[in-house]
Amino acid sequence: MKGTLNIGRVSGIKVQVHWTFVFLIAWVVFLEVSRGREMPAIALSILFVLVIFGCVVLHELGHALTARRFGISTRKITLLPIGGVASLERMPEKPQQELLVAVAGPAVNVVIAILLYIVFPIHRFLDLEPEALQEMLSAISPQNFVFYLFAANVMLVVFNAIPAFPMDGGRILRALLSMTIDRVQATRIAAALGQLMAVMFFFFGLFYNPLLILIAIFVYFGAQGENVMVQHLALLRGHKVNEAMMTNITVLNPGQSIGEVADIVLSGTETHFVVSENGEVRGVLYQSDFIDAMKGKNTQAAVKDFMTTDFEKVGLNEDLAEFYRKVRAKNINFFPVLEDDQLKGAIDFNNINEYMLIRSSLDY
Ligand SMILES: [Zn+2]
Repeated sequence: MKGTLNIGRVSGIKVQVHWTFVFLIAWVVFLEVSRGREMPAIALSILFVLVIFGCVVLHELGHALTARRFGISTRKITLLPIGGVASLERMPEKPQQELLVAVAGPAVNVVIAILLYIVFPIHRFLDLEPEALQEMLSAISPQNFVFYLFAANVMLVVFNAIPAFPMDGGRILRALLSMTIDRVQATRIAAALGQLMAVMFFFFGLFYNPLLILIAIFVYFGAQGENVMVQHLALLRGHKVNEAMMTNITVLNPGQSIGEVADIVLSGTETHFVVSENGEVRGVLYQSDFIDAMKGKNTQAAVKDFMTTDFEKVGLNEDLAEFYRKVRAKNINFFPVLEDDQLKGAIDFNNINEYMLIRSSLDY
């Protein structure tokens, strides 16, 4: 994610804060100032937000370290004003594993809440009459700080239990559904419910809390994206790269001029090219390489001066579902297909989309 600040590493996982986090702090300060609070009270509120986000990091670590037990690594944990995101390289597909990974986050907050309850006299607050409790909690103070922290952790557990896929509760629901029905179907149901919840969050947020609006948007599009992804992976699984690749491609020679490539680009629809010499692949001239050359008006220059030599390639018999994951993760959109160092074709995202279109219309 762009615009993030690294704040450290925990168990080898990078922890980052997104720049929009500044808005959250600014909002807290604004609320406190508008209530006429003094500097020490404002500082205490900021400290409270920071401690809560410390709890959020521990929550995300709960997901990440559980996933690690199943051989899934986590690239980073990002803190946004609406909460944390652990970027797992993938979700476990076994329902029991997904269930454990999803439960592990809120479980951390349960543990924190229990520890606070044991160590501090939280029960004294809970024993108060409603009016006295309201009075006691009207503003955050050193006396009620820990109680606020306890309540916030309880809130995190309750909020995450809402079955709004892809939030934790929704993942738990999908995992439970996947134990009895097909995972694609389970995802479809969980995502539909998640989107319905998102619409409710949105309207609720309009009246009560603007942060809920952001969460609603995040949930709505998150549910849509994951649902599509799971359906696509199901269509591709068990199929090989050679079923979807292009074989009718223009192969460039390293010595060819950029001007000649411009003619090829104009006369056809290809945008990326494999560069080969004596039957050996030397590089790839990506569209961005070609544009760089054209921008410098290097039409006389040779392809070899602009091609990328440390390009990503794919094997003829690689699984299409795995390849699809790789394409999405790496954000590269053109791969030469090789077998025993011999060029067999090329594949890009359009091929995969066309292949899925054909497969879904064949409906088998
Ligand atoms: Zn979580």
